[in-house]
Amino acid sequence: MFTAHTLVHHQLCKHEDTFHVTEEEQEEALTFQWWAAPILIGINMIPWALLAWSQSGSGLPWFAAMWTVGVVVLFYYFAYEGFHYLMHKPSIPWIERRGFFKFIKNHHRLHHVYMGKNFNVVCPLADVLLGTMVLADPLPAKVTEPNARQVARRHSRWGRRLRDDAEGRTSTTVEPLGVEEVAAPPER
Ligand SMILES: [Zn+2]
Ligand SMILES: [Zn+2]
Repeated sequence: MFTAHTLVHHQLCKHEDTFHVTEEEQEEALTFQWWAAPILIGINMIPWALLAWSQSGSGLPWFAAMWTVGVVVLFYYFAYEGFHYLMHKPSIPWIERRGFFKFIKNHHRLHHVYMGKNFNVVCPLADVLLGTMVLADPLPAKVTEPNARQVARRHSRWGRRLRDDAEGRTSTTVEPLGVEEVAAPPER
């Protein structure tokens, strides 16, 4: 999950010029892998499950409360995936016109420029509480350096496919690139 998010998604979508997905390659890691949903939801449920367990003898409707929390977490997860996808790949205009969406999109755009800020995609309030909120970029928009794509390709399925093609091991429909372009850039 870390690899997909930081080393692929953040490299392929970095600054203003690459924030919107325009190439098929950038779509990789735009959403979490399918198995991330049960894991992330499960982790979020642990404290609530413990709380429910500690209250199980008290006659409170803990089981119903657990279900409610579970549904909220699930809803949040899909809101995150859906909104995040739309931010990078506009496709539902009536949602994208909303002021709320524009606000969280700008919030997330800044997260891509400043990876240590604006962690929360759906609920910027969490960043206010964490002290990681930024509202504007004081610097002029930067251009994504070509090296970013090389970093992503070292970790992405797309990159692996290119390497396989270059070595002639598989035949896929991906356009092969020159070997020198596929080779890992020197470590800095
Ligand atoms: Zn993103
Ligand atoms: Zn991120």
